[in-house]
Amino acid sequence: MSEDRSEAEARSSHVPREDRSEAEARSSHVPREDRSESVSSMHADFPLPDTEWEPTREFWAGAARHELLIPRCNACGAYTWYPRERCRTCRGEAFTWTVMSGRGRLFSWAVVTRAFLPQFAGKVPFVPALVALDEDPVVRLVTEIVDCEPDDLRFDMPVRVVYRPLEFEGIAARVTAPMFTIATS
Ligand SMILES: [Zn+2]
Repeated sequence: MSEDRSEAEARSSHVPREDRSEAEARSSHVPREDRSESVSSMHADFPLPDTEWEPTREFWAGAARHELLIPRCNACGAYTWYPRERCRTCRGEAFTWTVMSGRGRLFSWAVVTRAFLPQFAGKVPFVPALVALDEDPVVRLVTEIVDCEPDDLRFDMPVRVVYRPLEFEGIAARVTAPMFTIATS
């Protein structure tokens, strides 16, 4: 009993909270292989996303079916994006990929008129953006705004999802991605 207590004291006094919870995650539920995959690597079809990368594989599979999927915590219901091993609110470790309404608000955007990588030459001008989803505005997707005039864009305006191929010069493959356009209804 006294041994237990002194060990607990030793743990709590020397190990910072962050380190401790990470050590717990390491030792308990997350297989080593999954963790090493959290470092994405450059792949042949860059700058296309790697749709087989485990943490976002369901997201891209959903997009191919024209569904916007976001991981939702089984314990507390919080949407956690970008995918993480643990819930941002309750640190739960189990998630269900959940279909979203595809409705959101324009949080920020830019109009890109010059291609900084040769693969983007055929895309300019284009409008990369952050969209806050209606289900929880804390969830912001990196996306593109399409099918509208950049001059018409306003902060916090309603947008809705559309599905478009990501295409780049010199790359034969395409990936269907959720993009957004101004919501008229
Ligand atoms: Zn949670």
